[in-house]
Amino acid sequence: MYSSQELIKINDEYGAHNYLPLPIVIKEGKGVWVIDAEGKRYMDMLSAYSALNHGHCHPDIIKVAKEQLEKLTLTSRAFHNDKLPLFLKKVCEITKMEMALPMNTGAEAVETALKAARKWGYYVKGIKKYEGEIIVATNNFHGRTITIISFSSEEQYKDGFGPFTPGFKLVPYGDIDAVKSAFNENTIGVMLEPIQGEGGIIIPSDGYLKQVKEICKENNALFILDEIQSGLGRTGKMFAYEWEDAKPDLIILGKALGGGIMPVSVVASSKEILGVFHPGDHGSTFGGNPLGAAVGIAALDVLVKDDLPGRSLEMGKYLTEKLKTLKSPDIKNIRGRGLFIGIELKVPARGYAEKLMEEGILCKETHDYVLRFAPPLIITKEEIDWAFERIEKVFENGL
Ligand SMILES: *Cc1c(COP(=O)(O)O)cnc(C)c1O
Repeated sequence: MYSSQELIKINDEYGAHNYLPLPIVIKEGKGVWVIDAEGKRYMDMLSAYSALNHGHCHPDIIKVAKEQLEKLTLTSRAFHNDKLPLFLKKVCEITKMEMALPMNTGAEAVETALKAARKWGYYVKGIKKYEGEIIVATNNFHGRTITIISFSSEEQYKDGFGPFTPGFKLVPYGDIDAVKSAFNENTIGVMLEPIQGEGGIIIPSDGYLKQVKEICKENNALFILDEIQSGLGRTGKMFAYEWEDAKPDLIILGKALGGGIMPVSVVASSKEILGVFHPGDHGSTFGGNPLGAAVGIAALDVLVKDDLPGRSLEMGKYLTEKLKTLKSPDIKNIRGRGLFIGIELKVPARGYAEKLMEEGILCKETHDYVLRFAPPLIITKEEIDWAFERIEKVFENGL
């Protein structure tokens, strides 16, 4: 048996240092709770950046995964398997789309959406090869591949990784006029997060998404939403775009789609758009594997059956109201939708994340000055009360 300290030391010795985790080693998780190597219990209020919307080890999803593990786990797409068709059908029913393409990680699904959009731009819209442009927003986070970081506005995400992929135009997030003026005859589409998660829980003003959608429509361009973090109940609706009734042409899902068990992502869209892919155009060895498909079906079933979007709305209101009673000179503002909540501080948030950890609350700073509270959507009122007592204590004492 290794102690937490020993494990952290081994990690630092043998692992690349591309993360700076809080000094806790988790060995078990159940619902909103995790246990560290010494047996101390913590509440997880980060939920693996919303990949754990269902909580740790949700029994219904674990059951499906175990059954599938015993039967069939991988076929590749060289053959059909008996789970993928049903997964695709379920994704289309929930997203109200016609067709879906499965991948594994979020970044792969974003790449897939960009490839679909570009091909649509050249073969359907008729833009001259390869002059197409996709409009994206500053402060975005869509993943870590070289193409995706090519249009990041975050210097650190790019530094040392060039040369970059061309064909993207950055405009300030939330600025509708900037989107309008970025359009030209080569515009393929606009890709946005409905709420910027990694960017610090940034919520655009009401009507922004809907207006972007309309501009896209007027210009025969695609409206693409990355709902990898905001989707699947996190904001109190199944999809964050429902807050504005701004259904996209392509939707990208990941994170919670894997039920907290494994990477499962998908792009869902129309037959016209995803129909641009022909055999051999695009693929993934693990994408659409029967284990992931079975887990994805279970994850979506639990979301609907247990009304996790509804719970997120109700518990999000409850937690936000409590947080707004915090009296601390370090708090600048509190914002959120459902259980997707950010506390913007006037001091670096890392210190608060560390203090909260000592009290048994796990959360993480994002963009230095924002503390993100995004617990699993299954959290109860009693659990929120437990958490708030500790959060209140930490803010009363300050850093
Ligand atoms: C996490 C995230 C991604 C990337 O997903 P990975 O599975 O880490 O590749 C893309 N877009 C958004 C909005 C995300 O939050």
